[in-house]
Amino acid sequence: MIDFIIVGQGLAANVLAHHFHQQFIRFKMIGNPRLSNCSNVAAGIWNPIVFKRLTKSWMADELISELNIFYSECEKTLNTSLITQRQIVKPFNEEQEKKLWLKKSQQNLSAFLNPFIAQSNHLDFKNCYLNEYHGNVEKSGNLDLVTFIKKSDQFFKEDIISETFDYSDLKIEECEIIYKTIKAKHIIFCEGHLVKYNPFFNWIPLKPAKGEIITIKTNDLNFKNKILNKNGFIMDVTDQIYKVGATYAWYDTSDKPTNNGLLEIKEKLKKIIGCNYQIINHQAGVRPSSADRRPIIGQHPKYKNLYVFNGLGTKGVMLAPYFGKNFVNFYLNKEYLHPDINVNRFYDSHFA
Ligand SMILES: Cc1cc2nc3c(=O)[nH]c(=O)nc-3n(C[C@H](O)[C@H](O)[C@H](O)COP(=O)(O)OP(=O)(O)OC[C@H]3O[C@@H](n4cnc5c(N)ncnc54)[C@H](O)[C@@H]3O)c2cc1C
Repeated sequence: MIDFIIVGQGLAANVLAHHFHQQFIRFKMIGNPRLSNCSNVAAGIWNPIVFKRLTKSWMADELISELNIFYSECEKTLNTSLITQRQIVKPFNEEQEKKLWLKKSQQNLSAFLNPFIAQSNHLDFKNCYLNEYHGNVEKSGNLDLVTFIKKSDQFFKEDIISETFDYSDLKIEECEIIYKTIKAKHIIFCEGHLVKYNPFFNWIPLKPAKGEIITIKTNDLNFKNKILNKNGFIMDVTDQIYKVGATYAWYDTSDKPTNNGLLEIKEKLKKIIGCNYQIINHQAGVRPSSADRRPIIGQHPKYKNLYVFNGLGTKGVMLAPYFGKNFVNFYLNKEYLHPDINVNRFYDSHFA
């Protein structure tokens, strides 16, 4: 008998698989990536700052420290490069923003806001509209999610079953789970927004947010290892290739790119760069955002061998490594799940 069945094959499932592997927890992963696209379209950015209020993103210190350790370890295991450290470039619209940046860079945000106010230099940022001055966010970067998932799938190939999980085939006994021919002690569901079809966890309060993103090709830009953020972002990927995004929509939960989405991104881009480009890809996915913007992780209130790992929302890259570790320590060492992410915060509203 194995320890866990993991259902899903996106970021959440693969991060858990690596944590399980590191702790010798035996698992099988059952997933059908064709059902949902989110992890494969994400830009994979982590950003410690909430620009709207110029505050620190929730638990940024802990999450960023853990993500660097975790993905670096995965780079060794998978023998590939996965993360790129980048500065996020934030143009200032008015004098007040500059003053606030300077103040906070010398106070509680000193770890993340570079105190040097940069004069935008059109040699380093050819064809970019950066306003006269900008600030740089440090300790940010991005994960190449497509490579992470592809290489992880190859690495775990003997433990992956590529199929759609059929909930009606699941038998739950007191001390074991039986799914077709597989016997496991536990099962953990990582289905992203498709958890709505899971009869055991369809009550978790998700507020899925569709997102669209484009990939462009141009040889008229020259910045490298940066993310330009101006009510939308542009990030260099490889030579002449850039990702641009993203949109947010709450009324459509299909993975289909739309004309409106494309127009919205082009409008954002018009305010960031002023050169010709060719669109080489346009993708969409649905972020598994939660109603209270925190992950939703933990045990089913009735079936103790059923677990959920979901609600990664817009920040899966930052959240998954830390809370994957938290889950493994909860499972192996009976450590507490962080109360803000524990699914038990919703027990009362659904199982009163
Ligand atoms: C346009 C866009 C840009 C984004 N940019 C960023 C970013 O820059 N940084 C960041 O951190 N996050 C970003 N995100 C969010 C990020 O993609 C998510 O946080 C993360 O990918 C969620 O991972 P997940 O594994 O929980 O869900 P998913 O990626 O949705 O994975 C769920 C998996 O489960 C599978 N599945 C579901 N049901 C079944 C079933 N019954 N049987 C078999 N398989 C099943 C699905 O097919 C899928 O493979 C972005 C998202 C979008 C859409």
